[in-house]
Amino acid sequence: MRLLSSAPLPVLILLLIGGCNAPSETVHETRFMMGTLVDFTVISINKDSATLAIKAAADEMQRVENLFTIYGETDNPVKQFNISEPGTPMQLPAEIDKLLNLAKQIDIQSRGAFSITLASLNKLWGFSMPTPPVAPPASDEIARLLKASTSCLQQQSNRRWKRIRPECRLDFGAIAKGYALDRGTALLREHGIDNAVINAGGDIRVIGRHGDRPWHIGVRHPREKEKIVATLDVEGDVSIVTSGDYERFYIFDGMRYHHILNPKTGRPARNSQSATVIADNAVMADGWSTALFVLGKAGLDLVAKRDMDAILVSADGSVHTTDGIASRLQLTLAAPMLRTSESK
Ligand code: AMP
Ligand code: MG
Repeated sequence: MRLLSSAPLPVLILLLIGGCNAPSETVHETRFMMGTLVDFTVISINKDSATLAIKAAADEMQRVENLFTIYGETDNPVKQFNISEPGTPMQLPAEIDKLLNLAKQIDIQSRGAFSITLASLNKLWGFSMPTPPVAPPASDEIARLLKASTSCLQQQSNRRWKRIRPECRLDFGAIAKGYALDRGTALLREHGIDNAVINAGGDIRVIGRHGDRPWHIGVRHPREKEKIVATLDVEGDVSIVTSGDYERFYIFDGMRYHHILNPKTGRPARNSQSATVIADNAVMADGWSTALFVLGKAGLDLVAKRDMDAILVSADGSVHTTDGIASRLQLTLAAPMLRTSESK
């Protein structure tokens, strides 16, 4: 058994690949995009067609990154919206409108744990800036931007949206990587690939099987990099996405400050160390892993209600799962585990 990971970047999930008794070839390629190493593992009877499929998938994922990113020099409609005249609606491309609607839906369904309008606060905290911060920002500035960023986005008809304050800015950072994984997978399929894994720095979408066995996925421990919290055997169309407080953080005055904010406080969420969501598609798994991270174990029921599963490592290090997880997947937990119903 080989252990592959996208080290040296912080890897959320380790991809464990089974034996090599598959009749077809396994083609493996890695690209850097979306701020992380993206591993493509494709099973195909033909190496050249696998390589072509990976290129198409990688190009598509890069296109998605360019469309949604609010960082870097390249212009895009999200950046234009973020500097648009407050109060004046702007028509957004259908793809952005669709993701914005999904983000708003997750916001409502998670009771405000997910917010697409946190860009100003995220920039203030600075976790995605080229120079990482060393200390938290001033409390009055957090309070000002929190007020300005709350309930500040309005939808008009026909893909037209307006922001009502200048500080109201979109940040798709919690959902765009999942969408990119879904688009990359669609491109692999269009190129005739039925068995593959795309691993974007630990956020994973699998299709099919690895030869005669399922794909074997390990969820990393949020505090001990080399350890695994759970392993999952998955096959078919499954996405596994993790949000963790170990991805981008610093310690100040003995306190951990990280990149996932509680939209109610404007400060790093305090309920969890990591939240992993397993769903049919990666955009839902990505959006909900961020929301669940903010909600903590109280959010497990909300995830289960939407036919998804989850593994949550609480702030105290205890591990909790949705009740149905074991029936959907082969799950092995490396630590003592509590089902939702046992941990209330
Ligand atoms: P993820 O790693 O998918 O959980 O996404 C984290 C990124 O999403 C951060 O770097 C921010 O850009 C953004 N973000 C932080 N907190 C939230 C939140 N509560 N809801 C939505 N987006 C957030
Ligand atoms: Mg996310």
